[in-house]
Amino acid sequence: MAKVIAVNAGSSSLKFQLFEMNDESVITSGVVERIGFEDAIFTIKYSGKKEVKTLPIKDHKVAVHLLLDTLIENKIVDSLEDIKGVGHRVVQGGAYYDKSVVINDQVVAHIDELKKLAPLHNPAHLTGYYAFKEAIPSAGAVAVFDTAFHQTLEPRCFIYPIPYKFYEEHNVRKYGAHGTSHYYVSQRAIDLLGNPEESKIIVAHLGAGGSLSAVKNGKSLNTSMGFTPLAGIMMGTRSGDLDPSVLDYLIEVVGMDMKELITMLNKESGLLGVSGVSSDFRDIQQAANEGNERAQLAIDIFYRRVIAYIGRYFVALGGVDAICFTAGIGENSAFARKGIIDLLTDAFGIVLDDDANENGSGERLITKPESKVKIYVIPTNEELVIARDTNRLLEL
Ligand code: AMP
Repeated sequence: MAKVIAVNAGSSSLKFQLFEMNDESVITSGVVERIGFEDAIFTIKYSGKKEVKTLPIKDHKVAVHLLLDTLIENKIVDSLEDIKGVGHRVVQGGAYYDKSVVINDQVVAHIDELKKLAPLHNPAHLTGYYAFKEAIPSAGAVAVFDTAFHQTLEPRCFIYPIPYKFYEEHNVRKYGAHGTSHYYVSQRAIDLLGNPEESKIIVAHLGAGGSLSAVKNGKSLNTSMGFTPLAGIMMGTRSGDLDPSVLDYLIEVVGMDMKELITMLNKESGLLGVSGVSSDFRDIQQAANEGNERAQLAIDIFYRRVIAYIGRYFVALGGVDAICFTAGIGENSAFARKGIIDLLTDAFGIVLDDDANENGSGERLITKPESKVKIYVIPTNEELVIARDTNRLLEL
């Protein structure tokens, strides 16, 4: 019975899901948050229970030991050796990786080198890797890259129209992100369409971070995030696409420096920046319902940024068979889906099935049979992709 753990180590958090690979069931899942603080929070779910503890957790090593001790103490696993593989989500694989790989010294060196492109994430992934390697030396380790699925983009889609030497000498190009989610959701959509030989799919991953992708015959053709996740649609706290001259103007007029500006664009912009209420879509929706005009404006801008990419990708694909909504907002907000779909209806000939949109749950079609484009809600499952790749590459 091979058990595989999917791990997502962030700068101050560690998310995990332990799978029994025979039937791909989730044995336990959870997260350690606020690593490095006196009041770190450890949440674990197993056997229908949820436990939450607040305690000091110095670093990722301590977090991993706490997690593994909990697995043993609660008899979630009999022995740590039962965990045969550890699959690590890695945000930035650069142009080195178009698929998942078993982690060896060279892979470690590449992930380390690519911290230039993902300074918060890649070092945290390596910290997580070393912590698990030390705690379960018998388990193999696999890296699953967020950028890998988008490595099928052609140069005409990933090269920025700036002097070419910046690509040649400094690897400045579009890499995209959320690749594991776009892969999973587009594959599910192809399945739901009955596995046609040719398919044109648009995936809208709308969560705290958000990105869209155009997927042609199962391959990523284009995606909205760029050199970093700052590009593309408006997000919870990220601006998305912006005229770069705004930065120079703010340096001149307000006296901000580049570091402050990048922080502003990543952490203080998007839904939060415009609404002044929250980065959480539920809070903004509530504020808008109560008559807050800036909350309504934030929602209106968000929808328009999403449909702008859908329009682009419709043209790039030469049509579209299915548009898929996923992630926190895409999966859970019938309100946001309807708001976006209403703006597409005339151009696309979409006939929404309001009942399926509002009252259904989980993976489903939310358009009526006469709709010219099918729209699906497809809950993403990046952890399952990580566990499957780990299982396959380690030949468990
Ligand atoms: P994620 O990053 O995928 O976890 O998504 C987080 C986003 O999903 C936040 O903006 C949440 O407000 C939003 N979200 C989660 N559940 C709901 C819901 N039931 N209705 C509206 N938005 C939701």
